[in-house]
Amino acid sequence: MNAEIIAVGSELLLGQIVNSNAQFISEQLAEMGVNVYYHTSVGDNPERLQHAISVAQERADLLIFTGGLGPTKDDLTKETIAKSLGTTLTLDEDALESIKGYFKKVDREMTPNNEKQALILAGSQVLKNENGMAPGMLLKKDAKAYMLLPGPPSEMKPMFSTYGKQAIQHLLKKKEIIHSRVLRFFGIGEAQLETELEALIDQQTNPTIAPLAGDGEVTLRLTAKHESKDVAITLLDELEIEIMNIVGEYFYGYDQDSLGEVGFKLLKEKGFTLSCAESLTGGLFQAQLASLPGASSILKGGVICYQDEVKKKILSVKESTLEQHTSVSEKCAKELAENVRELLSSDIGISFTGVAGPGSHEGQPAGTVWIGLSMKDQPTKTFHLNLGGGRNANRIRTAKYGWYYLIKELSE
Ligand code: ATP
Ligand code: MG
Repeated sequence: MNAEIIAVGSELLLGQIVNSNAQFISEQLAEMGVNVYYHTSVGDNPERLQHAISVAQERADLLIFTGGLGPTKDDLTKETIAKSLGTTLTLDEDALESIKGYFKKVDREMTPNNEKQALILAGSQVLKNENGMAPGMLLKKDAKAYMLLPGPPSEMKPMFSTYGKQAIQHLLKKKEIIHSRVLRFFGIGEAQLETELEALIDQQTNPTIAPLAGDGEVTLRLTAKHESKDVAITLLDELEIEIMNIVGEYFYGYDQDSLGEVGFKLLKEKGFTLSCAESLTGGLFQAQLASLPGASSILKGGVICYQDEVKKKILSVKESTLEQHTSVSEKCAKELAENVRELLSSDIGISFTGVAGPGSHEGQPAGTVWIGLSMKDQPTKTFHLNLGGGRNANRIRTAKYGWYYLIKELSE
């Protein structure tokens, strides 16, 4: 089965809103194994909507509409579809009751045009709207299926998740369970990851492997289909082991995990406190940590040691280190990490020093970074990066590397 998503609304074409409904529905359909070949956007115009419907009928089995189910004159999705399919609209008593109930609850008078929202395509299955008034619906006609969803994402998303997906599942002939899992990697590029996994990717059928890159991270979405959920999960587990054997050193988390969250969780598990010395990141790392609830039990504090004077005065970096090696050096990163840990009596000290760019600094090109990691009772570790991005991309990437090295250290 393949689907086309038709978003109705002139505001989409005027650039006033982004078609986030299509993105959400596509993502959900992909997880269910339904292919989406086209996204269409069309204004609140019956002729052009009719044209979009006839084009979609040629190329899709399932047509999903969003928008234009409301009470006003420009909301004409149902009316136009009824006309296109040569069918009629009938009043749905349950929907009408629930609209009346809504008006009673908010103590407002119901204008007659609101009754229009209770009209459904004759013979369609109603998809309940638990967050608004206009019901959604699903109509099967001439080997095609038509799903109508409201425009506001706050109504559309829960309706689709609760009722829409189930209705589509019924349309699918094979009752296969689709199970997917996202593996998250850092410190490896998309191209390199694909090269390392080439043999596995080439032979993929079930489960499938789909790489996606963004923000210096790469994810692999593994999707298994099987009638038994347990078998689907076993298939994913087996593939995951094979992948980990090849690129496990770059793996940090699953699904929606972020580097910060994974690092924070490990710090909490071990009961470690942390302090930071941030030069080029200027507080970015600490801000990420502080954004997580419960950070106060982990984050002791930190120093934004932007100028050499602060590195010397507050964090006791040796004059000789700065003179002989400059602030962009392994030695400086090491002293910063050790001294901030000492100064703030914490279990771990982490430091960031380098050249954010765009220009070079201390004779070193933009993107040169040193990270120091000092953990109690262990020799201090340092990490060197050559980043190729712009100023702020380098700063963000540096903070992410900080988390990554911390995660690797804590999970050993
Ligand atoms: P209402 O009852 O609110 O009129 P409706 O089903 O008639 O709902 P529209 O009038 O088309 O839907 O859109 C209402 C609002 O929903 C829009 O102003 C916009 O904020 C949001 N919306 C509509 N379509 C989309 C879309 N494709 N992606 C994201 N948001 C959308
Ligand atoms: Mg509307």
